[in-house]
Amino acid sequence: MKGKGASATIISVGNEILSGDVVDTNSAWLAKRLSTQGVDVEKIMVVGDDMEAISEAIKSCNSDFVFVMGGLGPTHDDVTREGVAKGVGKELERNEEAERALKEKYGISGTLLKMADMPEGSEIIANPVGVAPGFRGDNIFVLPGMPEEMRGMFDGIASFFRYDKGIRKEEWIMTDKSEHEILEVLNEAVKEFVDVKMGSYPYADREDEEKSYKLRIKLLSADPEALKYAKRWLEERIRIC
Ligand code: ATP
Ligand code: MG
Repeated sequence: MKGKGASATIISVGNEILSGDVVDTNSAWLAKRLSTQGVDVEKIMVVGDDMEAISEAIKSCNSDFVFVMGGLGPTHDDVTREGVAKGVGKELERNEEAERALKEKYGISGTLLKMADMPEGSEIIANPVGVAPGFRGDNIFVLPGMPEEMRGMFDGIASFFRYDKGIRKEEWIMTDKSEHEILEVLNEAVKEFVDVKMGSYPYADREDEEKSYKLRIKLLSADPEALKYAKRWLEERIRIC
């Protein structure tokens, strides 16, 4: 483990994400969950339904935890099992427990049973919402791509990733001022409050006919006092910018 908490890499798998047909909301949802639980997400990747690309992505990870999402179904383009197995240098093997569950619970047979294939030594992650089971091998957690399934499955294992020492609180400051106007104050705040991470995110206010740009500033810290003080400090100065 690095530092107080832990680190994670998220890999989303799917040609539909690379083509822009589907927006990768899974990564955003998981990153938010992990980050509020004290796990630093250090990298998010998207790869296509391509065994080599998945394998290479896995090999490139050196985070404490790696999450792979999507491509667990039974169709020809679902190659995440094969890609993960290749990435960790293991053979795929039929998981008997998963196979039994697919047969007994869903009456599944034939080629569909390939959903029970996992890299040797994997543990099943139960899927309370859908059919395809997820699996875990060492620090790698593989979940389906359907958002409801992925979320349901993560909820089942979430407590495993809770790092109380690393838990941080966030505060937001909303302002009509532009980034240019508050730049100096923000730079000063970054130097002043070293234990508070700050980010400034401009956005267009779509309801406004004139499309004026507004700003949200995020403050994040494991020290609640420092967070409160930094927020007040910034708010006071931004008001008179
Ligand atoms: P299933 O058993 O449900 O087929 P799967 O792991 O094969 O699981 P995918 O085929 O990868 O799932 O994705 C199923 C659907 O889930 C996609 O068509 C898409 O609508 C949605 N989806 C996949 N990945 C993402 C993502 N990263 N963000 C949001 N939606 C996604
Ligand atoms: Mg897919």
